[in-house]
Parts: sequence; structure tokens; C-alpha cells
Amino acid sequence: MNPSGSKIQILGTGLTYPVMEHFYTIQGEGAYTGQAAYFIRLAGCDVGCWWCDVKESWDRDAHPDLDLQKLIAVVQQSGSSRTVITGGEPLLHDLGPLTKALRDIGQKTHIETSGSSPFSGEFNWVTLSPKRFKPPLEESYERTHELKVVVVTKKDFLWAEQHAAKCPKETQLFLQPEWDSPKTIPWIVDYVKEHPKWQISLQTHKFLNVP
Ligand code: SF4
Repeated sequence: MNPSGSKIQILGTGLTYPVMEHFYTIQGEGAYTGQAAYFIRLAGCDVGCWWCDVKESWDRDAHPDLDLQKLIAVVQQSGSSRTVITGGEPLLHDLGPLTKALRDIGQKTHIETSGSSPFSGEFNWVTLSPKRFKPPLEESYERTHELKVVVVTKKDFLWAEQHAAKCPKETQLFLQPEWDSPKTIPWIVDYVKEHPKWQISLQTHKFLNVP
């Protein structure tokens, strides 16, 4: 309710994005672990990782199109100062209008992407998580602040180094085990001890039982 007692009406613009879910939470992975952030999970993915834990995001048409201005109003009312755009693969969409609207209300804009589609939008922080099934475009590397490689097999360490070599030298480097595959944890521990430019990222939101 606004001060006059009437319900706030948020007028839409007609510009929409397919959104699987959006929520204010604690970031679970990578450089911003433990910090509050608003997450917008856009629907649609053409990468097809077999181990994906958000397969329900793949079908763009299975999720509603949300009006941009209504979505922005919800973010603004949440109290968040940072919004993470994720997916699915968020770069399947033109993120220019979404990131402009978020920045206009003072949000820092972050993205988590495989980098496999052309970039759009303006970001304060880019997390590149390359996938073998559809590798990053070359343009992705120079934008990367954080490289996060999910380790599934021992071959992934070489794969991780190949991507790290293409990123800016100040890029933060993370290796992450799959939640359901603890066998990789000792491999990652040994690798990081031998190659300390890398850090370990864990899916701490699953320990915290937050989305
Ligand atoms: Fe799942 Fe992400 Fe791979 Fe798409 S890129 S299949 S959303 S893990």
C-alpha cells in the first residue's frame, strides 16, 4: 500500500523475459559466496550438460514471460543491491534492456554464463563457467572476472587451464565439485595445493538450504 492507502500499481512496458524463477537469497558459489543477491533465472538453454541440476530451465516456453518493469519493481522492493542473472543460458536473450533497468535502480549486475552465445548487456561481474557441450565464444574471455570450472573427470583440470590461459590475468579462478559427486573433492584439493592460483568453490547454498 502507498501512503494514500491505495494499492501500488506497476505499469508494464510490454518488454518481457522468460523467467523460470527469481528470488532474493544468499549467493552460494564462487567469489561472492555468502553475500546477499537477487537471482533472476532466465529460461532456455541450448548447451545440454548431462549433469545439469536445473534441466527444468532448458525449455524456454515452459516458463512465463514476465514484464520487465514489474520484475524490476520486485527487485527494488527486495532490498538487494546486487542482481545475478543466470539460467539456463542467459545470453540466449538480449540482456541490454534488463541490465540497463537494473543499473538504473542502483543494482550491481552480475551474470553466470557458459559464454556460448554472443554477449549483451552491461555487467559489473562476469562469471564464466565453460561447458564442453558448447564451448565459450572467444569474445567471452576478455569480459571474465571469475572463471568457474565444474570438475567431473580428471580431464577437467587441463580443460580448466586451457580456459584460464585465455582470461585476463586478474581473473579469479575456481574449481567446483558436483554436489552429487564427492569423489572429485580429493582430486580438487590436491590440484589446488599444487596450483594455488586456483581456489575451491562449493555449492554452499545447498548446505544452507537456500535456493
Ligand atoms: Fe544446465 Fe547450465 Fe549446462 Fe545449461 S549450461 S545445461 S543450465 S549446467
